[in-house]
Amino acid sequence: MYDFLSTNIEYLKGVGPARAQILRQEAHIHTFEDLLYYFPFRYINKNNIVKIAQIQDEQTYITVRGRIVALSEKGGGRQKRLVASLHDDTGHIDLIWFSGLKWIKDKLKTGQWVSAFGKPNLYQHQFSLAHPDIEILPPNADLTPPPADRNAALDPVYSMTETMKKKGVTIKSLTQMTRQLFASGAGSIPEVLPKAVLEKYRLLPREEALREMHFPSSPQQWQNARIRCKFEELFLLQINILQHKLSKKQQAGFIFADVGEQFLHFFNHNLPFELTGAQKRVIREIRQDTKTGFQMNRLLQGDVGSGKTMVALMVMLLAIDNGFQACLMAPTEILARQHHQSFLKNLQGLPVRTALLCGATPKAERKPLLLALAQGDIQILIGTHALLEDEVVFKNLGLAVIDEQHRFGVAQRAKLWAKNSKPPHVLVMTATPIPRTLGMTLYGDLDTSVIDELPPNRKPIQTLHFTDSARLRVFAFMREEIRKGRQIYVVYPLIKESENLDLKDLMDGYESISRAFPLPEYAVSIVHGQMKPDVKAYEMQRFIKGETQIMVSTTVIEVGVDVPNASVMVIENSERFGLAQLHQLRGRVGRGAEQSYCLLMTADKLSADAKKRIQTMVATQDGFKIAEADLQLRGPGDLQGTQQSGVLELRIADLVEDAPIVQAARTAAMEILTEDPALTSEKNLPLALEVRHRKRENFWARIS
Ligand code: ADP
Ligand code: MG
Repeated sequence: MYDFLSTNIEYLKGVGPARAQILRQEAHIHTFEDLLYYFPFRYINKNNIVKIAQIQDEQTYITVRGRIVALSEKGGGRQKRLVASLHDDTGHIDLIWFSGLKWIKDKLKTGQWVSAFGKPNLYQHQFSLAHPDIEILPPNADLTPPPADRNAALDPVYSMTETMKKKGVTIKSLTQMTRQLFASGAGSIPEVLPKAVLEKYRLLPREEALREMHFPSSPQQWQNARIRCKFEELFLLQINILQHKLSKKQQAGFIFADVGEQFLHFFNHNLPFELTGAQKRVIREIRQDTKTGFQMNRLLQGDVGSGKTMVALMVMLLAIDNGFQACLMAPTEILARQHHQSFLKNLQGLPVRTALLCGATPKAERKPLLLALAQGDIQILIGTHALLEDEVVFKNLGLAVIDEQHRFGVAQRAKLWAKNSKPPHVLVMTATPIPRTLGMTLYGDLDTSVIDELPPNRKPIQTLHFTDSARLRVFAFMREEIRKGRQIYVVYPLIKESENLDLKDLMDGYESISRAFPLPEYAVSIVHGQMKPDVKAYEMQRFIKGETQIMVSTTVIEVGVDVPNASVMVIENSERFGLAQLHQLRGRVGRGAEQSYCLLMTADKLSADAKKRIQTMVATQDGFKIAEADLQLRGPGDLQGTQQSGVLELRIADLVEDAPIVQAARTAAMEILTEDPALTSEKNLPLALEVRHRKRENFWARIS
């Protein structure tokens, strides 16, 4: 089948090999389709013709028309420029070119009548136009502006690189190419959305929408076109995600049929507190999943401190009751150790063998451990990335829990699967609150559970902002809290590019704190990424046991650490942290019954963004509100953990701004797939082809 849209751009009339090369290199335009989806970022009204004397500001693009009365090259070297003086009956204006001089010189002659289009610059009370678009007019052209036309057609403005401009691919030539494409392709741009979807959501047909994107016939139609194009993009993406999810759903999985002895014993004798309603609900959801005979892929979202670990532990007991092993993978060694300890404590009196495996686990310990694991004598294995290594072989891994997912890549998740003939059930836990519509896309292939309730009796954390000049007051406050028996974290930022500088900051801070809180009255721990794991673990232990009152660290403690007696979090240079990180750090306190505090230290002067971040932190403790603010400040591309996802490289839609369209697209995709999961019916054929096309072109790089 001849596929118009896939035609090489080189074969479009007026393009040819040389320009095609530039289009490919500079704008990733390889095919007709790419050109159609190279949308303008603005539009201008070229019929905005003004008299030279009437030019008023630098904001609007204008067209002036007149005669060239002088043409000269001025300056030398980098200052070299071509200046044409344009006259009309009201005044004169300079047209200036800094590059492409030769080309312009060939084209322009003194005495010529031209129309010049551009944005005026004001310099020393004189307006000029730099690099205007020029159209040669017949001599003695009628210069009377036409009557103002409110519906005048808008011309597209495309984003251009310097190289494009230099090599003669201008906005004008791109516009011409696009026009040419619509002219020769009329009727050749196939609809990909099913008819029912077009009707239900009242969307413009594809060809019309694309044409309106480039050459809007009215603002209203342009709006409709944008909605159609965004919908198309998000709908196809959701079809892909949901198909993926469906295919995984059909993956056979282990059946955890019974709640057994260990689970019940734990529940009746060991559970140290009443579960929250949300925890109970999530455990029920997981129990349902693991009964079906299909593999579970579930994302458990819960704000810091919401009690995800307990859910993990109880689900693991369920696996064990059904004869399976379980593992828990944590992003850092500190965290893995801590989980291990809390599991040991919680599982006292139960015949469940738990082991810890980290990169630092010595060979002598490792060997017997691996043997016991392969024989099924160890029921719960906790560890770091070390769990992924080939030498780690389970007898029958039934459940893999991944804590704080954003630290793990998708490929790593997949590696855990491969440890069995049948993949284990997978529970991914994250405290990074993800706005719903974003989650639908990023984790659209996972089922989601949410713990939306904190354990009772938590007092809200008081968050206060101090500048460095208030340090003495902060120290006094710290002493007071220590006197009450509390412990304190002091955290310094770590920014990879300058690890040594950061370390210096940290060491300086440690020294000044050690001076302000001297032995023997006080003891201060320090932990950072460049320490040996065993030293790190030792220092951490001292703090956990309460032997030290202050823990100075980099963000290694960001994730997951749980010391209920620590009730003060001091964040140094907090303007250098992102909101998500600040929220995670603050979540380290407020875990016990005491009033907790988070002190945000900053320089005296702050950027607008930094100010907004600090204000947000002081104002709210709600992870979802913070995530929304974060998204607004940074855009989704920066959201923690999403950078490598690829999913976010959308052509026109914006996952945040277009949340309602994301929702509609997901619903529509779900409806289509419910009826026709493999998209084999006649009416869905164009859709199926488009999805296949996009897969082939690697539109959706990510998705597990
Ligand atoms: P996160 O969800 O951040 O991983 P944790 O699992 O570390 O949270 O739990 C935070 C703290 O809350 C822990 O000290 C834990 O023992 C405690 N906790 C968890 N669930 C409850 C509950 N239902 N009632 C009281 N305390 C709880
Ligand atoms: Mg946790």
